[in-house]
Amino acid sequence: MENNNTPIYVTKPYLPEKEKFNSYIDFIWDSCYLTNQGTLHNEFQDRLKGYLDVGNITLTVNGHLALESALRMFDFEQGSEVITTPFTFASTTHAITLSGLKPVFCDIKESDLTIDENKIEELITDKTVAILPVHVYGHPCNVEAIESIAKKHGLIVLYDAAQAFAVKVNGKSIANYGDISMFSFHATKLFHSIEGGALAYNKSEYAEILNAYKNFGIMDEEHVEYVGRNAKMNEFQAAMGLCNLDSMEDILVKRKEITLRYREHLKGIPEVRMFYVESDKIEYNYAYLPILVNTKENREELYNFLAEHDIFVRKYFYPIVSDYECYKELYNEVKLPVAKKSGDTVLTLPIYHELSLEDVDRVCFFIKKYFDK
Ligand SMILES: *Cc1c(COP(=O)(O)O)cnc(C)c1O
Repeated sequence: MENNNTPIYVTKPYLPEKEKFNSYIDFIWDSCYLTNQGTLHNEFQDRLKGYLDVGNITLTVNGHLALESALRMFDFEQGSEVITTPFTFASTTHAITLSGLKPVFCDIKESDLTIDENKIEELITDKTVAILPVHVYGHPCNVEAIESIAKKHGLIVLYDAAQAFAVKVNGKSIANYGDISMFSFHATKLFHSIEGGALAYNKSEYAEILNAYKNFGIMDEEHVEYVGRNAKMNEFQAAMGLCNLDSMEDILVKRKEITLRYREHLKGIPEVRMFYVESDKIEYNYAYLPILVNTKENREELYNFLAEHDIFVRKYFYPIVSDYECYKELYNEVKLPVAKKSGDTVLTLPIYHELSLEDVDRVCFFIKKYFDK
């Protein structure tokens, strides 16, 4: 075990059969249609609507621009407040800020590291217009509690579901919760289209405006109704998405197997907490393999110890967003104890389709070895 030093990275993109992808590429060559709502784009959009079991899908070039487009669509007054989590990827908060809105950070829950629904209401002011929670690591937020808070206060709920593809709550696709959800199909996500993203929603009236936003606000040859961006998904991305969508069942089975192997190994280590919600209400996607280590010092040491043995894990999400250079001046008063502690002690372990169970054994061997010292 100790002599095997093929590096193991935290993730590795899934690749479909090359011949299968090539047949789509042949189609693109024959049609000579590369982008702007092409045949493959439309097919991918339809198939996703089915897969995510949602009324409408708008595809975008990446997840981040999907978030920005959604925020732009609601046309909130500049400077309005959006309640969100600091325990996320940069994109979530940057989308709010770049839309001229103010992120208001709410602390998270120790149980699953999603936004703490019990702390949302105290942050609502007369400037609050929306809640932007994140289904972090694919763990669904408390969607029912969030919905009732939003209803009571007349707020929009926009989910960052970038990591929650294929997750179900109460037997229903996660795409059906909130006013709108953003999915990311970046190469590192469990399902990808190289780069790519989608907005999923049931209010059909959003479709026209979102389609316009991703194409400069152009309605037709002579009418430009909105100040839009360029956020269109191209045919090559759609081809990759179509190929990978066929493999979803395989992908989910494999990831579950890997996750269960990790749980088996790690449950006996008192310094390590694997947090996941065991609930028959949730169908999980095994998107990530996060653990919490008992202290920050151990987290740092373990990270380095694993790297010395060619295992490259990530401190994902550290630092928390409110501690970024670009935000900390603005948020130095905010108290976010759970988010802070989680950022200081979290590690995400390798998980990807091709990761073998022997590799999982090797990662866990070194984690145990570190704590046995
Ligand atoms: C990946 C990710 C995004 C951004 O998606 P891109 O497709 O990379 O633009 C946003 N939020 C979260 C939580 C993510 O993990």
